Amino acid sequence: MSSPRGADRRRGRRAARLVLGTLVAAATAAVVLPAAPAQAAGNKVVHLTFDDGPSPRYTPQVLALLAQYGVRATFFEIGQNVAAHPDVTRRVAAQGHSVQNHSWSHPDLRKLSKSAFQYQVTATDARIRAQTGVTPTCLRPPYGGVNGAVRSGAAGLGKSIQLWSVDPQDWARPGRAAIERRVLDAVRPGSVVLFHDGGGDRSQTVAALPAVLRTLKARGYSFALLPCR
Ligand SMILES: [Zn+2]
Repeated sequence: MSSPRGADRRRGRRAARLVLGTLVAAATAAVVLPAAPAQAAGNKVVHLTFDDGPSPRYTPQVLALLAQYGVRATFFEIGQNVAAHPDVTRRVAAQGHSVQNHSWSHPDLRKLSKSAFQYQVTATDARIRAQTGVTPTCLRPPYGGVNGAVRSGAAGLGKSIQLWSVDPQDWARPGRAAIERRVLDAVRPGSVVLFHDGGGDRSQTVAALPAVLRTLKARGYSFALLPCR
């Protein structure tokens, strides 16, 4: 249930993107540029995502590291955790990160009735909007559990489903070194990396982050938010 204001904002952004696309197309047609280093570097982008927060213990540690390395990330938060720790959600957004929807209580959305599905999404939207001023446009279904009903339910609520491509299984606590290695071995341009800042002891995730951020930067990666509002 997105607000009319949100819909207006999205329409405005779509219009802006169309204008920008036209300008870029015009510029590209007019001048054939050699492959500039900046453009090549621009393609080497990775999207870091953090699920299951906010956590009053681990989310601030993640935020401190992301700030230290000047990196922005997308946080898929659980509505009932936002309700319990609204100040943490506010800090995530205030530091320039994106806060998106990971359901209210982390069920397998494939097993819910339509009304239960809608509650999971819209109650979480409301809590996030109350802290960030922004209604999420992206939904990450818990467990990556997607089927036709989840897909059409998400679309009906104006949500784009965002999964991931690199999963170090940090939630299973395989050790700092394993998390680092799994991420660094797997990342390619455009990868979406799944980490967890909530839902349990995330000290290994926090411990792995400095080497992950340092190494990806050394490889020439930049860090981008997922295309959500
Ligand atoms: Zn999750």
